[in-house]
Amino acid sequence: LSAADYIRSHIRTVPDWPVAGVQFRDITPLLSNPRVFRVLIDQFVHRYFDERPTAIAGLDARGFIIGSVLAYELGVGFIPIRKKGKLPFTTVAESYELEYGSATVEIHADAVKPGERIVLIDDLVATGGTMLAGARLLQRLGAELIECGAIVDLPELGGSAKLRAAGLPLFSLLDFD
Ligand code: IMP
Repeated sequence: LSAADYIRSHIRTVPDWPVAGVQFRDITPLLSNPRVFRVLIDQFVHRYFDERPTAIAGLDARGFIIGSVLAYELGVGFIPIRKKGKLPFTTVAESYELEYGSATVEIHADAVKPGERIVLIDDLVATGGTMLAGARLLQRLGAELIECGAIVDLPELGGSAKLRAAGLPLFSLLDFD
């Protein structure tokens, strides 16, 4: 069993959540099993060990779980990108369109130091809106974005293609149709 297949076998698919017709890919079983959690984190550690990012950024909320452990393992700092209204200090915001309405993510205005080389982490890319908004925030603060990283890509929803078109390659551990 490859690492990707081992990880895939521990993702739970929940039909019709949060709305009818959606197959939600639930990653919590990857976290509750300590062996698969370690294999999961090690995939990202191996990917970025030689790349030497100066910080890892993570998207609210499941990107925090993976991203902060990765940052700790690499010995670099962690930058949270949060949903609107959660960060206490001066923030910079980026909004993006959802199927119905819009969403906003925020970062602290002083979160990126000059010359910083960052990897942005989330659990899953669907339409790519969340990852792209997070990437824009980091770039607006002067970061060099090495790439985006996620456990799961849903390529049929077009997010990874959208990121690629914006010059932001996605590294994902596995795809679901
Ligand atoms: P996007 O902005 O359409 O790419 O949606 C990605 C965001 O929504 C990420 O922050 C994911 O955590 C969340 N998301 C969307 N669909 C799923 C899913 O099936 N499983 C887990 N998270 C999801």
